[in-house]
Amino acid sequence: MDHSPSVIPQADPGAGYRAQKDEIDAAVARALGSGWYILGRENEAFEGEFAAWLGTARAVGCANGTDALALILRGMGIGQGATVATVSHTAVATVAAIEMVGATPLLLDIDPDTYTMDPDELAAVLEDPPPGLPPIRAAIAVHLYGQSCDLHPMLDACARAGVSLIEDCAQAHGAKLHGRKLGTMGAAAAFSLYPTKNLGALGDGGVLATNDVELADRIAAIRQYGWRERYISSLVGVNSRLDEVQAAILRARLPRLDAGNARRREIAAAYDAALAGGPYAPPVRQEGTEHVFHQYVLRVPDRDAVQARLKAEGVGTGVHYPVPVHLQGAYVDRVPLGPAGCKETERAAREVMSLPMYPELAGEQVERICAALRGLGRR
Ligand SMILES: *Cc1c(COP(=O)(O)O)cnc(C)c1O
Repeated sequence: MDHSPSVIPQADPGAGYRAQKDEIDAAVARALGSGWYILGRENEAFEGEFAAWLGTARAVGCANGTDALALILRGMGIGQGATVATVSHTAVATVAAIEMVGATPLLLDIDPDTYTMDPDELAAVLEDPPPGLPPIRAAIAVHLYGQSCDLHPMLDACARAGVSLIEDCAQAHGAKLHGRKLGTMGAAAAFSLYPTKNLGALGDGGVLATNDVELADRIAAIRQYGWRERYISSLVGVNSRLDEVQAAILRARLPRLDAGNARRREIAAAYDAALAGGPYAPPVRQEGTEHVFHQYVLRVPDRDAVQARLKAEGVGTGVHYPVPVHLQGAYVDRVPLGPAGCKETERAAREVMSLPMYPELAGEQVERICAALRGLGRR
C-alpha cells in the first residue's frame, strides 16, 4: 500500500473507521465493559442480524473467511478422499481452505469477461471426472470482485451430479443475482470480514450462512472444539471463534453496508463514464447481477506502464491477483487443473488492474481519478 499523502490509496480501511468513529468506539467500549470476550451476546446478536439482513435461516460467526469455508466443508463431512472444484483466479484462501480439511482442490478456468468460473467446464468435470482424483463432493463458486458467477448453470450441474455448491461470498456481501442475494442460493456461503471487505471488522472475522439448520448447528459446535455442551466434545472440532469486540464493531457497521455498496456503484458509474471511448473497457457485468464492486477491475495488457502513469497522477492501483494459485510456489506442479487448463486465468493474472474503491472516497478524489482515466485515452 502506498502511504505518500498525494497518492489516493487503492484501499483505505482507516477511512472506514474514521467515518464511523463514534459508533465504533462506543461498540468497542460496550464489548470491553461486558467482561465477556469470546462468543457471547455480541456474537449471538451479530449472527441474528446478519442472517436477517441476508435472508438465511442461520449465520455462524467464526475467526476469518478462510475458516468459514473450511468449517462449511467440515460440517458437510468433506475432507480426505474428496475433491472440491473451484478456480485458480481467486484469493489463495479459497484453495487453502480446501487443503486445510484434507480435500483435493481441482482448479478450473474462468470466463474471460467476468473472471468467474466457466460453468461449462464445471458441468464437464462433474459429468466426466478427471481420472486419478477422489470423487468430487463439492464445488466452491467464487463471486469475485463483487458480482455473481454464472450461478444457475453451476447450481444445475451440481444438482445433477448430487454435489454441494458452496458460495465464496468474501467479496460479494449484498450482491444479487436476478434480485436474490448471493449467499442464499447454494448449500452454504462463506463471508470474510477482513477489514477491506465490503463488510469489514477491524481485525480478523468471518461468518457463514445457510438455510440448513442442522448443518449450522453442527458447524457451531465444530468451531469450538466440537462442543455442544461445555467441556464435552461430541464432534471433532477446531477453534475458530469470533471475538466480542469484532462482533460489536460488525453490528455497528452492518446497518451501513447497503449504503456503502450503493456508493461503490456510484463511483463505478463515474469510472465507467470516464473510460467511455478510451482504450480500456469498463468491467463487464454478469447478466442479471447487482454488482457491489468490492473491486473495480480493468483489463490492461500494458499494466506496468499504466500503473506507473496513474501513480504519477496520484492514483494508487492494485492487482487482484498477480499470480494464479496453481503457479504459486506452494501449489505449482502439485494441484490438479481441469482438462482445459487455466489459459484465461493466466492471461487475467497478467492483465488485471484494480482502481481505488471504497465508500469513503470523496467526490473530489473520484473526480481526480476520473481525470486521470480520461487522460489514458490521450497518449
Ligand atoms: C478475503 C477472501 C477470502 C479469505 O478471507 P480471510 O478472512 O482473509 O480468511 C476467501 N475468499 C476470497 C475470494 C477472498 O477475497
